[in-house]
Amino acid sequence: MTDNPKPPAPSPCQPFSRSQTVFATGPSADLPPLDITPPEEAPGKTAENLAVKSAANTLCQLVSQSFYGKLNPEADSSDSDTKPSAAMLQTPGENSARVKRAAMRFGAGQVGITELDRRWLYAEAADSVPDALQWVVVMAMPMDAQAIAHSPGSTASAATRIGYLDMAICAGALSCFIREFGFSAIASGNDTALSIPLARDAGLGEMGRSGMLIVPSLGPCVRLCKVFTDMPLTPDAASDLGVVKRCRSCKRCVEACPAGAIDGRPEPTCDTLGPFNSPGISRWPVHAQKCRQAWGELPGGNCTNCIASCPYMPRPKP
Ligand code: SF4
Ligand code: SF4
Repeated sequence: MTDNPKPPAPSPCQPFSRSQTVFATGPSADLPPLDITPPEEAPGKTAENLAVKSAANTLCQLVSQSFYGKLNPEADSSDSDTKPSAAMLQTPGENSARVKRAAMRFGAGQVGITELDRRWLYAEAADSVPDALQWVVVMAMPMDAQAIAHSPGSTASAATRIGYLDMAICAGALSCFIREFGFSAIASGNDTALSIPLARDAGLGEMGRSGMLIVPSLGPCVRLCKVFTDMPLTPDAASDLGVVKRCRSCKRCVEACPAGAIDGRPEPTCDTLGPFNSPGISRWPVHAQKCRQAWGELPGGNCTNCIASCPYMPRPKP
């Protein structure tokens, strides 16, 4: 009996709209101002970090615009007339091992596979993923835990942006890799579908109170990306780490959040705090607008306090 069974999909089956995410709507103008005193940073360090962030962002934009949400984009150099050779026609288990090996070579820290539950597709993307693409390879990209621990500030902010670049490179490269074998693929970052439930279904981890996926050995210090494909694969089982049980008594992220955005109630709930929460899912809801508001008031333009404060964070190597 698992303490944190596979989360129910929205019920009734209403795909969530990406237009309701806080990245699309921004913080609400109705929210009261936050009482945040940003930490001081050395000017030279801040400038260097912001330059790193900008550089990572520039390359991330280039890669993600070429691949994210696109079925077999023309930028792909593979020969579309190529037929799978005998060596390419492997069993689903062999395909899965091959895809996972490639994803790790492209930088993933953990890789899992799930059959696509189409209820996790964003409403706007429901028609952009053909039914034949029934498999999802989900990758957890490790972020620099030491840099993330410096939150809030430009050091952690730069590490986050590097994580986004890593996502684009890994998902883009893996989609090209799959096409080399004659199959179709769509690379995806935060577009097309909700990443956390897919990652959960793929056995990568469990969602904690902070709304972050907790991954074995990597904790919440990850960014998620995925590839949809028709390559026959073998799904992984959802994992049971006991995260919900631990979050019931641990509220470190609640205390560390400068915006009061993380819910401190004892038990998970299907309640929502606003249209930015998917309905019908049992979890601790995060007030994403408050979170987004805090980002605008902190150095570096974002915050990773809920990641840095979590006891599942990977321990520094001696
Ligand atoms: S990122 Fe920062 S502001 Fe947002 S929920 Fe986490 S701790 Fe709170
Ligand atoms: S900090 Fe504690 S309560 Fe928050 S997600 Fe991590 S384990 Fe759960």
